[in-house]
Amino acid sequence: FRRFSSFRVVLMPGDGIGPEVANSVVDIFDAAQVPISWVHADLINKSAKPGEDPFNRDTLCQIREHKIGLKGPTGTPIGGGHVSLNVHLRRELDLYANVRPCKTVPGVRTVYENVDLVTIRENTEGEYSGKEHEVIPGVIENLKIVSERACLRIARYAFDYCEKYGRSKVHAFHKASVMKMGDGLFLKKVREIAKLHPKVPYFEKNMDTGCGILVSNPSNFDVMVMPNLYGDIVSDVCAGLIGGLGLTPSANIGEEHAIFEAVHGSAPDIAGKNLANPTALLFSSIMMLKHLNLLEHAEKIEKAIHSVLVEGTVRTGDLGGRSKTTEYTKAIIDKIKG
Ligand code: NAD
Repeated sequence: FRRFSSFRVVLMPGDGIGPEVANSVVDIFDAAQVPISWVHADLINKSAKPGEDPFNRDTLCQIREHKIGLKGPTGTPIGGGHVSLNVHLRRELDLYANVRPCKTVPGVRTVYENVDLVTIRENTEGEYSGKEHEVIPGVIENLKIVSERACLRIARYAFDYCEKYGRSKVHAFHKASVMKMGDGLFLKKVREIAKLHPKVPYFEKNMDTGCGILVSNPSNFDVMVMPNLYGDIVSDVCAGLIGGLGLTPSANIGEEHAIFEAVHGSAPDIAGKNLANPTALLFSSIMMLKHLNLLEHAEKIEKAIHSVLVEGTVRTGDLGGRSKTTEYTKAIIDKIKG
């Protein structure tokens, strides 16, 4: 990416608090003079009639062209309606690795200090394959798909990530004691890749035991690799350890494309009230800047956020403050402009 002087990034603000937190990123990037131009897009096809595909194909084309996207949350109807647009997007672009770092944020007090965890979640299959049907009235079959190819590539990604970012160890989370074939295959493939990385200490934990240890002693873990559903849950547990969903970023990485987004959802309870914490999307956008090798800009924005949070006078309600989204954004901009 280094040869480009300006990047085009597809910005999908999403639903609920999405537009509010996306505006905050845009304003802060402007202030930090990040060499990015936004391609504004919508993941949902708003003109789709009931029964038609709500997924916006034009947006997909934009992402295919520009390769990088920053995405706000999209609401998904529960127990009916359309398939999750997130799941759709990840499948269409084969964004196979969902990376969710959770690191203690300076100025945010939590039960544990110095938490530094990375969940690497298989992002294309497992329990979220979307393959479920009614066998007979009252009985649903919900298929968990586990393929050798997906297990191998997520394991490779986890070990490569560990080496690239100088992390200390990899844990595989699984439930192979019960799902002997599905999680058994996952574990077998992770072990194969572990053998190719003899310098990376490798451990395994049953999902339930692992979660117990995670909340009682998070320093036991560093990089954790796991199937789709477990990764979804464990990363929210990790978010709780560092101060909540308002702070946790993520990246969806494929061979050719990458989409960055906050871990949180559209937060309908606070949407439109200027109350949302934009830090999670900001941290996601910092991951994006690092991915694009815009390291100085990443550092400048990160320092400004940390400095506002350490001062502690301007912070959003989820972190115990009373500030509006726009006030917090302005405080960060003031720091950037010095
Ligand atoms: P949620 O993450 O939207 O909200 C959970 C709680 O955390 C709420 O109390 C909310 O106010 C709070 N919260 C979340 N983000 C916050 C922020 N940035 N600042 C301050 N408080 C914040 O989870 P939910 O209520 O279970 O889901 C709502 C919708 O979002 C659902 O339709 C769900 O499917 C969708 N969702 C989308 C994504 C995504 O697009 N990646 C992820 C998760 C959930």
